[in-house]
Amino acid sequence: MGAKLHDVVRRWLVELLHLPAETGMAFVTGATVANASRLAAARDALLAGVGWDVQESGLFGAPDIPVVIGERAHSTLSKSLGLVGLGRSRVHVVPADDQGRLRSELLPDLDGPVLVCAQAGEVNTGAFDPFDGIADWLAERSGWLHVDGAFGLWARADPNRADLVAGLDRADSWATDGHKWLNVTYDCGVAFVRRLADLRRTFAAVAGYLPASESFEAMHHTPQSSQRARQIEVWSVLRTLGRDGVAALVTTACDGAALIADRLRAAGLTVLNDVVLNQVLVRLDDGPTTERLIAAIQADGRVWCGPTQWQGATAMRISVSSWRTTLDDAAHAADVIVACAGRVGGG
Ligand SMILES: *Cc1c(COP(=O)(O)O)cnc(C)c1O
Repeated sequence: MGAKLHDVVRRWLVELLHLPAETGMAFVTGATVANASRLAAARDALLAGVGWDVQESGLFGAPDIPVVIGERAHSTLSKSLGLVGLGRSRVHVVPADDQGRLRSELLPDLDGPVLVCAQAGEVNTGAFDPFDGIADWLAERSGWLHVDGAFGLWARADPNRADLVAGLDRADSWATDGHKWLNVTYDCGVAFVRRLADLRRTFAAVAGYLPASESFEAMHHTPQSSQRARQIEVWSVLRTLGRDGVAALVTTACDGAALIADRLRAAGLTVLNDVVLNQVLVRLDDGPTTERLIAAIQADGRVWCGPTQWQGATAMRISVSSWRTTLDDAAHAADVIVACAGRVGGG
């Protein structure tokens, strides 16, 4: 039954997220490991292309594969690159714009094969990298495009946000979380790959493994061997919500974020980002005043917001992602934040 449900969930998610029909999928613990396992598959595929077998020979002495990331890539992407032997710092970092989007016109002049890591949903602004620009650049070389979409990939389920995610289906692999926007419990990362054979090269538990049957065996496609059937929870949520329900989950959270942004702006706070998704990045006067606001909100206890660093000073991150948050809740949260700002004395 686990294998059957895995197959159903793969098909549903590929349809929901508008990924290429043959896209392969595997569950892991979270987006960090989803990123790491796809970067490992990319590493092995690109090096196989130049005649190097990573699984047999390791990385010592292997040909050089350049890695490109955006300036605002998530911190765990660097951790994943380090984990798979590509190095946290041995990367070409492309500058980002004021929303945290990789500036594709500044991609370096490199020969392929290249591994490029793009992002769907910057953790502060919710911004999306320009996937078409990146894919066009890569098409002139050879290589692999990976997308970290821990929460942002779910924007693909919302027809209102098609422009934001254009070109995302041109990637070779994608990472996301079930335990963020889909609201299943922790320990649910989802890793997609364009060609399933690229997983077997890296993760087959037996060298030279060929599938004995058509059914998907997780131990030959993931870093784990024994593992729980994460697809059951995801199946339940998708079965309950349906395609429209997942779209509504995304739309409602994004509408809530937009509503909060409007109210905070009206009350004199500075909204630092274009609110294109479920993230609102706010500052009250300056960094230190914003730190006092965050402390006041956390002491109040009705709403929780955390700090981040944005363009050299502290900002406050608001993230709307619970299935239970209604627009009334969002309005109430904005009122609480505005009241706290009044007590802190900024604005
Ligand atoms: C949360 C997040 C991650 C890490 O996800 P985990 O599930 O905590 O491993 C990676 N990238 C982005 C953009 C994220 O928001």
